Amino acid sequence: MGQTVLSIHLDALAHNYHYLRSKIEPKTNFMGVVKAFAYGSDAEAVALKLQELGIDYLAVAYVSEGICLRKAGVEKPILVLHPQLENLTDLVAYQLEPSIYSFRVLKAWLAVIKPTKETAYPVHIKINTGLNRLGFSANEIASLSAFLEQQPVLKVASVFSHLAATEDPQENSFTLQQIQSFKQQYQVLCEKLPNKPWQHILNTSGILNYAAEAQFDMVRSGIGLYGFGNDAQYDSMLKPIAQLHTIISQIHELQAGDTIGYNRAHLAQNNMRIGVIPLGHADGIGRQYGNQKGQVWAQDQLVPIVGNVCMDMMMIDLSNVPHAQEGDTVCIFGKQPTAVDLAATANTISYELITGISQRVKRQILP
Ligand SMILES: *Cc1c(COP(=O)(O)O)cnc(C)c1O
Repeated sequence: MGQTVLSIHLDALAHNYHYLRSKIEPKTNFMGVVKAFAYGSDAEAVALKLQELGIDYLAVAYVSEGICLRKAGVEKPILVLHPQLENLTDLVAYQLEPSIYSFRVLKAWLAVIKPTKETAYPVHIKINTGLNRLGFSANEIASLSAFLEQQPVLKVASVFSHLAATEDPQENSFTLQQIQSFKQQYQVLCEKLPNKPWQHILNTSGILNYAAEAQFDMVRSGIGLYGFGNDAQYDSMLKPIAQLHTIISQIHELQAGDTIGYNRAHLAQNNMRIGVIPLGHADGIGRQYGNQKGQVWAQDQLVPIVGNVCMDMMMIDLSNVPHAQEGDTVCIFGKQPTAVDLAATANTISYELITGISQRVKRQILP
């Protein structure tokens, strides 16, 4: 392989898409969430593949992400989950659809859209049902409905909310309460609207655990498309689309008493064999993985990261892998260990590890 590469396996993406689709009714629309470089992979390649697979909608966090997709030839409707007010003009230019989550955003949006020739421009109303992140609160919905009735320039294409704990069975009653509140607020909002917008609330774990209760007109999946289901049983049905590999740059034989890396953080108790690999905290593998927390795959076994992770490099313990050589491939995450396994060693989740792989790491797209 010859260098550090994050390989993106589009066949695994197709597998995950079909698996998630099999959990919902054929008529339910599917929104692929491709924010943050498609969770650290490659947003353009992933979005184009999803488009080919027949995805109904895409979602990004910011306007700039949507513009990149349009420039790459993505034609499906794109929801921008968190548009910034400075970028609203670009939103229209690229036919991106905003999430409107407060009266402040609604008024800013009207100021931008009214002077254009647009009519019935699709927008998506976000309701806060308990996550307490973005969204209109319950006591604003009636006045929002009355306000929207006066705005034919807008078309409410969908009404949505986001669940706080779909992966956690212990929070089942809270999740059902959020779903109930969403249904009620949808009714109130629709009282004065000329059309019946789509409703959607489920994320990946929602699709896996609440499809019967709440799939409505559309579901939104991010992490599931990338191969993780926030649960060992679902993980086994999905395939991670991204694999991070690198190669051993150099091997050292150390004597007992030698130390490794900055701050001499690791002291060799016995003679040791260590490998240096070209991947560090600037690539998204943070210092929390150092000092024998994280483990990577060398030859035929998991080996610990030793010493502090440096900016561009880290050292791994090859004492039990005498046959490992300079130039050999090392798997940081992929099939073994998975991103879930590696993330767990630093008390975090797959989402954080995979989205943090920096743009310096070369992406290789495989069919
Ligand atoms: C990121 C995001 C999702 C995707 O969630 P997953 O758990 O990755 O499926 C869905 N909806 C909203 C509003 C989001 O911000």
